[in-house]
Amino acid sequence: MHYDILIIGSGPAGFTAAIYASRAGLKTAVFEGLQPGGQLTITTEVENYPGFEHGIMGPEMMDVFRKQAQRFGTQTIFEKIESVSFNARPFVCVSDRGTQYSADAVIIATGASAKLLGAKGEDEYMGYGISACATCDGFFFRNQHVYVIGGGDTAMEEANYLTRFASKVTLLHRSENFRASKIMLERAKSNEKIEFMMNTAVEEFKGELLPSGLRKLTHLVLRNTVTNELTTHSADGAFVAIGHQPNTALFNGLLTMDSTGYIITDSKSTYTNIEGVFACGDAQDSVYRQAITAAGSGCMAAIDAERWLELTRHTAHSEQHS
Ligand SMILES: Cc1cc2nc3c(=O)[nH]c(=O)nc-3n(C[C@H](O)[C@H](O)[C@H](O)COP(=O)(O)OP(=O)(O)OC[C@H]3O[C@@H](n4cnc5c(N)ncnc54)[C@H](O)[C@@H]3O)c2cc1C
Repeated sequence: MHYDILIIGSGPAGFTAAIYASRAGLKTAVFEGLQPGGQLTITTEVENYPGFEHGIMGPEMMDVFRKQAQRFGTQTIFEKIESVSFNARPFVCVSDRGTQYSADAVIIATGASAKLLGAKGEDEYMGYGISACATCDGFFFRNQHVYVIGGGDTAMEEANYLTRFASKVTLLHRSENFRASKIMLERAKSNEKIEFMMNTAVEEFKGELLPSGLRKLTHLVLRNTVTNELTTHSADGAFVAIGHQPNTALFNGLLTMDSTGYIITDSKSTYTNIEGVFACGDAQDSVYRQAITAAGSGCMAAIDAERWLELTRHTAHSEQHS
């Protein structure tokens, strides 16, 4: 099956690119991958996406994105892309079902995944007291006691940010040595709302079922990494802040990336090092990592791809007739 544009990824970046591309009359398909709708499908309420005055549940919001793209003719394919061939045009993407798809342009919107601890109860209470994004969810924890888990710059930044809302922030770190830069560590240490608990790891996240039927985190079982002693602590919230991993392994050796794996795009555009391949959203953004910025760069990718296609097709047509 041949398309004008194939979009790999179905988060805010992928669907926004799809809305723009299909509205421009281009034959477009979105591959949904293992997490249809992307990261927002593992959260509860999204309050900071413009246009939803009273907030909206993450999964519902992504359903709206999908329907809006489908309305303009985008085909959504519930398959994961397992290999790509970018060395000749048309480009080829092969899915986990072994199906081959070809396209004149490809937009990569494979996002990123917050690294998680793998502790018991973490999946169960993610979005119900556990979060991996202080900018997104800090506001829900006004005057409450929250924990931040991690020892790098991300953890220091999240802890500092959370002191704007929380009454107290306890930063848990499994050792006594920090990966965080000196300046970030000093800033956190001088913040009187932040308490440090060293040599401490989360053994289990515990909670309860509310009368409304929703789950809620209530306690952390902590392990002293030196003595192995277990203690239980009440908690209103917990932020896992041990970094993010962009979902870009598929493009190793093909696309230029930074040392963590974020795709590098040409300044102020979504062009990658391969002509006709564009990247947007969290897969190329290690800084902002928000739904609105992902959507914004998805729009840019579709416009970049559309203009590039027009130019290459016009050039090919002129060459044929000269
Ligand atoms: C718990 C949580 C709460 C959050 N809350 C908010 C919030 O309130 N407000 C906010 O603005 N932001 C929030 N964020 C951040 C926001 O979700 C991300 O910034 C945004 O989703 C990034 O969008 P994206 O389209 O780049 O990628 P993602 O949403 O990460 O989507 C990536 C997509 O790529 C697909 N994919 C990956 N690999 C392949 C492959 N090989 N083949 C096919 N498909 C593939 C996945 O299945 C997925 O559909 C939150 C994040 C988390 C984790």
